[in-house]
Amino acid sequence: MSADPNCIFCKIVAGQIPSNKAYEDDEILAFHDINPWAPVHILLIPKLHVVSMADVGPEHAGVLGRMMVLAPQLMRALGVTGGFRQVINTGADGGQEVMHLHLHTFGGPRPWKRG
Ligand code: AMP
Ligand code: ZN
Repeated sequence: MSADPNCIFCKIVAGQIPSNKAYEDDEILAFHDINPWAPVHILLIPKLHVVSMADVGPEHAGVLGRMMVLAPQLMRALGVTGGFRQVINTGADGGQEVMHLHLHTFGGPRPWKRG
């Protein structure tokens, strides 16, 4: 599925819901989490609607790899120098609330609100 009309992150990709963007290209969007757990809390998403890591196949290897490479570049650009944490929640038992695959990347000086 390229976009799900009921998906909040697809609506952010389409510009129907505003976001504080940190990065955008043809296939990836990164934006600041609306309820940050850390001084810097970014979500990186594929623009295509992929529900979760449980739905990933070989065709997604490229975009997932680019998301992983992009995250440290964004942390550096946002002034994170002391390390960061990356999390992908998958499915109900994995604590996933928004059903569009997203890579959380948290950074900035401790203490953090959560995580
Ligand atoms: P998860 O529990 O892994 O599905 O995380 C979903 C994340 O999306 C949470 O950290 C939310 O704060 C974040 N979130 C939900 N809606 C928005 C939004 N409109 N803009 C930015 N972040 C959002
Ligand atoms: Zn979506």
